[in-house]
Formats: sequence, structure tokens, C-alpha cells
Amino acid sequence: EAKRQGRNTWQWYRGRQAEKSRHNVLMRHDLHTAIREDQFEMHYQPLIDAQSGCICSVEALVRWRHPTRGMISPGEFIPLAEQTGQIIPLGNWILNQACRDLAELRANTGRELPVAVNISSLQFYRDGFLDEVKDVLARSGLPPELLELEITESVLLDGAKKVIELMETLKEMGVRVALDDFGTGFSSLSYLCDLPAHKLKLDRSFVQKAQHDHRTAAIVQGVITMAHHMEMIVVAEGVETREEQQGMIFRQCDVLQGFLFSRPLPLNDLITLPEYLIADVS
Ligand code: C2E
Ligand code: MG
Ligand code: MG
Ligand code: MG
Repeated sequence: EAKRQGRNTWQWYRGRQAEKSRHNVLMRHDLHTAIREDQFEMHYQPLIDAQSGCICSVEALVRWRHPTRGMISPGEFIPLAEQTGQIIPLGNWILNQACRDLAELRANTGRELPVAVNISSLQFYRDGFLDEVKDVLARSGLPPELLELEITESVLLDGAKKVIELMETLKEMGVRVALDDFGTGFSSLSYLCDLPAHKLKLDRSFVQKAQHDHRTAAIVQGVITMAHHMEMIVVAEGVETREEQQGMIFRQCDVLQGFLFSRPLPLNDLITLPEYLIADVS
């Protein structure tokens, strides 16, 4: 009986694996056409200055409007695009679109809103990435000061020494770098010392857990203090409640981002948002 059960489980597992790889093959194929057929669109989520309550920048987040499957989240297709290398053309498209959109917003409204673009490791370390950034800025007319690149700790681990060089050059160009999902990876504190990053984004898991776990709260407080000593701006990601907002303001966090203030929006909806998203900051 046990043997039969084991066999069934194994067959179930095999079935699941086959299904999963079939799904992946289909998705890969679809990704290929998606780039050609313009099925991607960019949404923008506001980041809010904790002191003034105004929108101080936006994060560009890609969306895939699949012709039959509907909206597919980047958490699903970005990893796949990374595996297949399709992240290169897709990443270029994203960088281009985000810079064009924000240059357009600036031209139409006069607002100098910086845009943060997520960059995959493969894209970041590819030869010619910096030239690509320069080209995109020149083509779109967006000032380099209004572009920020978000990289995660996995990017740091992949690149060892090269990352510092790249970040230094970006800084000279006027382009800022933010460390995304901070705290979820395994980069060491001594490594962090050498990184010319402008901003540190505390992962949502810490923002949530700090509310009810005093050890997490201690880490969060420590990281914020440390970042400030290194002249970095700290962002709290995924703020969903007033309590989390107040907790992060109490801990001197500089910038807040989350569904509490706004979901990621298409450019047209972003334009119509009021300048201030927190009326009463206290
Ligand atoms: P991320 O860079 O950490 O982006 C923040 C994610 O948190 C976004 O999910 C955003 O919609 C979500 N979020 C914001 N506020 C809240 C909140 O209050 N609660 C919750 N539960 N979630 C919130 P999204 O758009 O699904 O993106 C997921 C991840 O996919 C991103 O994480 C990023 O790693 C990747 N990604 C998204 N767009 C791009 C892109 O254009 N290029 C690359 N390379 N990666 C991207
Ligand atoms: Mg990000
Ligand atoms: Mg993040
Ligand atoms: Mg995150």
C-alpha cells in the first residue's frame, strides 16, 4: 500500500512537472511574440515623502496584457524572461518606455518627477548597459537626475567588484541607484559600506513584521539609522495600513510606498493624482 501510494505521489509529481514545463514552453513562446506585438505596458506607483506627504518619485512596474490569459504579473514572467535571455530586449523596452513617459509628464505638467526602473542582473552586467542608459536618456530628453535604477541584492552577489565600478559611473552620469528589497538577500554589511547607493528600500516583509515583532523592529531601526549615517534615503515598501505608516514615520523612514497611498497606475491616471497623498502626516 505504502509503495503504491509512493508511486502515485511520484506520478502526480511527474505530472505536475510536465505540466509546469509545458506551461513554461508556452509562456516563452508567448513572451517572444509579446515583445513584437507590444503587449507590455508600464504602470507607475507613487512614492510619498514622509515629511511633506507629497509624491516625490514613482516606480515603473511592467504589466503584460496577454491576449488570452489577461494580465500576467511580473513576478511570473520576469523570472522566465531572465532564464531565456528575453529580459534583454524586454528590459530595454521598459527603460525606454519609462523614460519617455516621464519626459512626457514633465513636458505636459512641468513636474520634475524622478522615475525608478527595476533592472535585472543580466541586464545590469551586460556589456554596453551604460551606453544603453545614455542613449535612452538622450533619446527621451529625460535629465539623468530624474532616472533611478533599482537593483536587488542578487545583483550585488552576481557582480562582486564590478558593481561598484558600474555604480560609480552611473553616479558620475547623474543617475541614482537604489537597493531594492533590502534585507531579503544575503549581502554582508561590510559590502554595503562600499556601495555608492542613493537609496535603500526596506522590503515589505520587514515593514509588516516590525509592527508586532520587537526584534524585527530593532533591525529596521538599526538599518534606518545606519543608512542615514551613510547619507542614504530609506523607503518603506508595501505600506498597507495607517499603523504601518505611523510605525515607519516614528522610525524616521524618509519615504513611503504602498497600496495605502496608491496602487501602480497607468501614466494617464498618474497625471490626474493630487500632488499630496497624505493630508495629515502626523
Ligand atoms: P519590486 O521591485 O519590489 O516592486 C514592488 C512590488 O510590490 C510591485 O509588485 C508592487 O505592485 C507591489 N506593491 C506595492 N505596494 C504594495 C503593497 O502595499 N502591498 C503589496 N502586497 N504589494 C505592494 P509587482 O508590480 O507585481 O512586481 C513584482 C516584482 O517584479 C517587482 O518587485 C520587481 O522585482 C519585478 N518587476 C516589476 N516590474 C519590473 C520591471 O520593469 N523590470 C524588472 N526587471 N523587474 C520588474
Ligand atoms: Mg523595485
Ligand atoms: Mg522592491
Ligand atoms: Mg519587495
